[in-house]
Amino acid sequence: MSRNQQLESVTIVGAGISGLAAAWKVRQLLPAAKITILESSGKVGGVLQTERIKDYLVETAADMFTSQPSTALDLCREIGIDDQLLTTAEPKHKAYVGLKDQVVPVPQGFSLMVPSQEESIRQWPLLSESGKQRLLDEVNVAQRDYEGEGNDEDFASFAIRRFGQEAFDVLIQPLVSGIYSADPKKLSMNATMQRFVDMEKEHGSLIKAVGNKSASSDSKASGARYNLFRTPREGFGSFVSALVDQLVDVEIRAETIVREVSKNESEKFSIRLDGSSIESDALIIAAPAQAAASLLPSFGALQKELAGIESTSCAIVAMGIDRSELPKDFKDFKGFGVIYPHIDGGSTIAISFASNKFAERAPAGKLLLRFFIGGAMQESHVDLPDGKLIELALNQFEASFGCRPQPEFEKVYRWKKTMPQYHVGHLERVDRIESLTAQISGLELAGKSYRGVGIPACILSGFEAAARLIDLPRS
Ligand SMILES: Cc1cc2nc3c(=O)[nH]c(=O)nc-3n(C[C@H](O)[C@H](O)[C@H](O)COP(=O)(O)OP(=O)(O)OC[C@H]3O[C@@H](n4cnc5c(N)ncnc54)[C@H](O)[C@@H]3O)c2cc1C
Repeated sequence: MSRNQQLESVTIVGAGISGLAAAWKVRQLLPAAKITILESSGKVGGVLQTERIKDYLVETAADMFTSQPSTALDLCREIGIDDQLLTTAEPKHKAYVGLKDQVVPVPQGFSLMVPSQEESIRQWPLLSESGKQRLLDEVNVAQRDYEGEGNDEDFASFAIRRFGQEAFDVLIQPLVSGIYSADPKKLSMNATMQRFVDMEKEHGSLIKAVGNKSASSDSKASGARYNLFRTPREGFGSFVSALVDQLVDVEIRAETIVREVSKNESEKFSIRLDGSSIESDALIIAAPAQAAASLLPSFGALQKELAGIESTSCAIVAMGIDRSELPKDFKDFKGFGVIYPHIDGGSTIAISFASNKFAERAPAGKLLLRFFIGGAMQESHVDLPDGKLIELALNQFEASFGCRPQPEFEKVYRWKKTMPQYHVGHLERVDRIESLTAQISGLELAGKSYRGVGIPACILSGFEAAARLIDLPRS
């Protein structure tokens, strides 16, 4: 029996999906342990929340997970809800780019930053002839000297170097911002798009690499691979509830803010709450890095590294409209969404046509729209009053679609400082964090701040934290 299989009590900070996944795994590995989850808000699930408004099903943050890696899908199978997962519809064009008053499908075969079909680039109306040529000339761009210039690189520098400024501005930046909401000049390639770095290292060119079958079938692909998208029929709220219902003998204490954590003389964790404290043999902090940092003043070096992981905010404006309000040209619009280049100067990162993407999100003949506003480039927008954010959303819609709908409902969700930013050097920082954490027996970290923000990565982080606690090899 390994050392930690005798742990009697495990406390988890944060009831987001990372903390819940950690609890799920700890229960499997330590059937007799007392498990407690401490959650500062009144709700479980963290950013995963679903609301029913009229007959619309509104996801307030995440609206899908990818089935590769299969961690989230596997968890759904384990808790018996895999038969309730929806896949995406199959329209001809899925993602669109909005520029000025134009709304144009992303070129066929374009995966986040790499074209696989020259003809679709040649015909694409939003790039000039010289911009198209520069993009396609990527095959001739010299490989970066990774040893001499440093191993990590920011996304803007990488993409402009390989594909030119215009393709970056009009196509690549909005595609990537639709996922990471980050400052392109700070976003780490190694932490977010390692696959493309590997392509350059191995093939000298990304275009050459995608022409190579084995590279294009890489399971770490970062592009929007819509056929892998899954969502719970009744929304992520139902996923969280199903998981919580099956957590055997796990106490979840909501509205319980953890203020500080230290180790006492008997080598147990002393967890200070408002007006009381509790003891625990082991502790998994599944709160975001900045929150984790504030809990650990007695572990100075670790606290400093955690505090260095920044996060940004975004707002989602959800609204339901009648399809009949769309002008003639867009009556049968089936696209999943429109992304907006930062150079367009608008206020919106993207509009998701949520009810085009997945069935059962809106009543027949209606559309559920979700506007993403803010992110690292326009974070202050998130603090605008609701009315102003709704106006910005409608302005953007009108600019693109030529009509100003009368929504059946509109609602604003703000996610303040909830999106971790993986800046250049992030992976090295996480390595340091992990080695400092390993020096504190019984402490583990999990969550979106470290090795992936997507739901599968968060679940995996919770599983791995639990496995490390009892010295099991990582999966
Ligand atoms: C707008 C938005 C859209 C997204 N869309 C997608 C998507 O479509 N697909 C996808 O895969 N991912 C998406 N993501 C990312 C993904 O949803 C998140 O990264 C993931 O759900 C985070 O889970 P978590 O448990 O690590 O963190 P969180 O959900 O943030 O949970 C952390 C919990 O810790 C609690 N906490 C913090 N401090 C304390 C404290 N001191 N004491 C006690 N509790 C504390 C918080 O209240 C919170 O409940 C999206 C994220 C956002 C914000």
